[in-house]
Amino acid sequence: MWRSQCLTWDVNGSRRGKGQNTSQRTMNKQHVHMVPAKQTTAEKVAAAVNARELKGVDDAFYVMDVGDVVSNHQRWQRLLPRVEPFYAVKCNSDPLLLRVLYELGTGFDCASKCEMDMVLQMGVTADKIVYANPCRQISHLQHAAKKSIGLLTFDSEAELYKVKSVYPGARLLLRIAPPENYDVMYDLSEKFGCHPGDVSGLLRTARTLGLNVVGVSFHVGSGARDPEVFAASLQRSHNVFAIAEKLGFNPDIIDIGGGFYGHKGAPLSFEKAASTLNMALDKYFPVTSNVKVIAEPGRYFASSAFTLVTSVIGKRKRLAKHRDRKNSLSEINVESETSGDNKPAFMYYMTDGVFGSFNVIIFEGTCIIPKLVKAPSSDVTFTSTLWGPTCDSLDCVRKELPLPELHIGDWLYVENMGAYTTSTASRFNGMPIPRCHYISEEKAWNSIFTENGVHISGTTS
Ligand SMILES: *Cc1c(COP(=O)(O)O)cnc(C)c1O
Repeated sequence: MWRSQCLTWDVNGSRRGKGQNTSQRTMNKQHVHMVPAKQTTAEKVAAAVNARELKGVDDAFYVMDVGDVVSNHQRWQRLLPRVEPFYAVKCNSDPLLLRVLYELGTGFDCASKCEMDMVLQMGVTADKIVYANPCRQISHLQHAAKKSIGLLTFDSEAELYKVKSVYPGARLLLRIAPPENYDVMYDLSEKFGCHPGDVSGLLRTARTLGLNVVGVSFHVGSGARDPEVFAASLQRSHNVFAIAEKLGFNPDIIDIGGGFYGHKGAPLSFEKAASTLNMALDKYFPVTSNVKVIAEPGRYFASSAFTLVTSVIGKRKRLAKHRDRKNSLSEINVESETSGDNKPAFMYYMTDGVFGSFNVIIFEGTCIIPKLVKAPSSDVTFTSTLWGPTCDSLDCVRKELPLPELHIGDWLYVENMGAYTTSTASRFNGMPIPRCHYISEEKAWNSIFTENGVHISGTTS
């Protein structure tokens, strides 16, 4: 994967017709593997593995499917027509993903100077960026001011004074905390969001400082499992609008944040979230209110577009007695080198682990469900443990998993691995962060790019 601090793309002859090209590295349609229509994920992954093996590459890699982003975007437009998405760059800043979203017309949610530069250099205009980190470094805020990125969130008095001195002309969204007690996978409300009791005070301070509050934002938490949290947050926002109007502001933007799942089989379907949201929007912010509705989806667009493919590089039979540290060596009996049902247990070591893409296990408690690229020679399964490649024993991807016997060189794949994986991965022990094998159906590609040439500029790794 091309990932670096401030990597940018330029697409030659894209439909927006930007021709400026300072590329150091050129990517064209040949670097995106065109695949036949209607292939299954398994078939796409198998073809990618073949291509990598031919090149002698055994590193873990991602299969990134452009068509998946396109169809998720179409679904968004169909089900949430009033809501303009601003993709949360932190979720996955893969340059092709950003480029595709840009060509599809989304805006971007940036949290730092680097993220702003990344999308600006792609050609995104300042009005398509929301700087949605409510507590920012002064130098980053100065950068936003210089680049006229004027839509900012805030949730504290200190930030208001900062904005007053650095960027008094900014348009501010008050980030409020979502109501508690709703089921979300990753709660953000302890760190961010102003509580209802503090709303008036903050808005008064903004008024006194002569700042311009244009609306409200919230983030229900990443991976919302109960759609009612969106409705309850919109109701809260509605109350904040009333307070703001009383104080003389004219709020006309509601930013409903992120939290949406996009993949099949998610704990909350996008269809359900969207229908609850639409009803709540009609109630609290009807079309006639002329309030502009934006969102900051990250996971929704990134997750299912990326499938992680990793190979088995090590294998050990697992001694049953060794599993229990309390047992002394004298108790070890080779006969007991078995799992409970009298079969051997296996440990496998793979090319990606918890310090890489699988950090989602630590951060989000994700349960990894690996699939085999090639059908096993036998269906008999054994209790298996999957380890990452580093020398740390914390680096365990999955325990007690029934799997057919695997061999060195076998490939496994894990779907829906695009969200908060590479963006938070480390290079601990010198293990590389997986690169991307880009694929697309012709139709999806041609719906976005009118020319073959795609140029990447900047340092790549
Ligand atoms: C992380 C984040 C998002 C994206 O959240 P998802 O759950 O990935 O949709 C959006 N907005 C803000 C402010 C965030 O911090």
